[in-house]
Amino acid sequence: EAKAGGRGRVAIFDRTMHERIAYRLALEADLRRALAEQQLSLVYQPLYEIKGCRLAGFEALARWHHPVRGAVSPAEFIALAEESGHIEALTTWLIGQAVAQMAQWHRLAPHLAQASMHLNLSGRDLVRNDIVDTVRDALLRHGLPPSRLTLEITETVLMERLDLALETVRRLRGLGVRLSIDDFGTGYSSLSYLGTLPIDSLKIDRSFVMQMEHKPENVEIVRAVITLGHALGKRVIAEGVETTAQLEQLRALGADEAQGYLLSRPVSAADVPGLLYAPATA
Ligand code: C2E
Ligand code: MG
Ligand code: MG
Ligand code: MG
Repeated sequence: EAKAGGRGRVAIFDRTMHERIAYRLALEADLRRALAEQQLSLVYQPLYEIKGCRLAGFEALARWHHPVRGAVSPAEFIALAEESGHIEALTTWLIGQAVAQMAQWHRLAPHLAQASMHLNLSGRDLVRNDIVDTVRDALLRHGLPPSRLTLEITETVLMERLDLALETVRRLRGLGVRLSIDDFGTGYSSLSYLGTLPIDSLKIDRSFVMQMEHKPENVEIVRAVITLGHALGKRVIAEGVETTAQLEQLRALGADEAQGYLLSRPVSAADVPGLLYAPATA
């Protein structure tokens, strides 16, 4: 056994390690059940066109309400699903759910004909060979035009698996779905891929938008991304807009769409019909 003095530390270290592993294993097992037991859901955060404040679409965001632990953050359980091999089933469910929901809102509000449902894809989704079929099947099954679905892929994920991702992204674009680069500006990347990828929009990362009032250099970064995006024929979306000052600055810089707590928090599906005919308040 460990000597006195070092002993407590060793024991604590062991216990912490053990607890972390036990926690992970338990959470993993719980995730397996979560799908079957309907603990997972999607919430929807509206995106608005900055010019005219029209509803431009929604971003579907996954939620896990764990019966004991309460809300588990998507960053945590998506990573867990990736590592434990549950991501395929999870993503297939998410795609079906988001597409079905958007098809329903389209029927409810024909003036939303141009609005798009954004859904996040993770790294493993891009290298899975049936992802294109899964997306196509969901669109056909629910009768949603492909262009009404936008798949968001982070810059980091794209760059990590560029060769494989490129192939998948081209095939997805071939279906007619739209593609957006998420968290743009946070991944280290040569910008050369931007010219060759069939991408429709860039989402400027929240970290740049958040600090716009306080950091003139962030304003310049946002300005540069908008200029670059527009020069390449892409729409530019700002995420994490929390203040009117940020929104006005984005408007002045010519950003196309905005999303953030100022305009709306993510809401449950039941609350969306109330938003369909309402103008943005900001
Ligand atoms: P993301 O795709 O960049 O999603 C935007 C995140 O910023 C969401 O957090 C959203 O609630 C939050 N957000 C939006 N507006 C504001 C704002 O004004 N202020 C602040 N502070 N936050 C804002 P959420 O829902 O916790 O999602 C975190 C990340 O988890 C997402 O980042 C995405 O990478 C991942 N994720 C969420 N749902 C899914 C999913 O269905 N599939 C996959 N693969 N990843 C998902
Ligand atoms: Mg996203
Ligand atoms: Mg984002
Ligand atoms: Mg983000």
